[in-house]
Amino acid sequence: MTSIAEGVWVVELPLPHRGVVETTNCYLLADDAGGVHLVDPGWDTPDNHARLEAGLTDAGFALDDVRSVTATHLHPDHLGLGSRLRSERGVPVALHRLEHEALTRPLYPEPDETIARWGIPADFVDEVRANVLPRSQPPGLAADVVLEDGDLLPLPGRAVRVVHTPGHTVGSICLHDESAALLMTGDHVLPIVNPGLGLGGFLPDDDPLGLALDSYARMAAYDDAEVLPGHGVRFHGVATRATQIADRHRRRGAEIAALVDADPGASVWQIASRVNWTGGWEALVGFLRLSALSQTEMHLRHLARRGTLGK
Ligand SMILES: [Zn+2]
Ligand SMILES: [Zn+2]
Repeated sequence: MTSIAEGVWVVELPLPHRGVVETTNCYLLADDAGGVHLVDPGWDTPDNHARLEAGLTDAGFALDDVRSVTATHLHPDHLGLGSRLRSERGVPVALHRLEHEALTRPLYPEPDETIARWGIPADFVDEVRANVLPRSQPPGLAADVVLEDGDLLPLPGRAVRVVHTPGHTVGSICLHDESAALLMTGDHVLPIVNPGLGLGGFLPDDDPLGLALDSYARMAAYDDAEVLPGHGVRFHGVATRATQIADRHRRRGAEIAALVDADPGASVWQIASRVNWTGGWEALVGFLRLSALSQTEMHLRHLARRGTLGK
């Protein structure tokens, strides 16, 4: 547990598997009525439950003092323990409306439909199918508090406002603590890793990249705030970091647009296999290949929607 500001702490909660990030930052926010509120309570494991309880104790609270959980988005490394605190202790969970609605759908569409649409060669169908299986959420999970852009969290004595930043998922939010000048960014803006886009809740006609570019541009209004990311270290300069991430997506988009110009009839699979991925296409297997294919499709969709990339 580390103190960040008056009445604000962070507890780092490990992910159960090794990946590009290893811990989730769970933020603790004290209200002025003796309660404490959690943002992104981390992956639901017994160890993390114990770590969270120890962090609360260090900050002067008990589990009984937890008055609400807000998740920046529905991924299990963020919403995670919120589902357990809700079912075991009746703690209300707050999510953006679109994230709440997405909980009732599979995170990914039907595998066979995706395989056909992407033009996957027969040799690779099994591999893709193994990684495209819909990942369901805990049954019965729902938001008790449904948030919209501009709402204040139900947090007495502290003005924490919701900033809807779709892109990573459809209902991803940042949370702006106006009095303490802090911006909790979930997976929208991270200090080192470039967050993936289109990873939950979007409908087939949505344009996650277009929405994300607009969401990155919104960060300019919060440049004075200290950034409290969902993973990694705190930092200042959210506008610069958001622009870096947006530019990287635009460069990849320009590359894909050129590949489409060169071969307008190519399938998603063919285009993806020609992209200059870090480490090379051949090295992308399993989930990584799936992720490259869905990123490619996202760029193609954006291209079709807006006529050009980067607008
Ligand atoms: Zn995420
Ligand atoms: Zn995350």
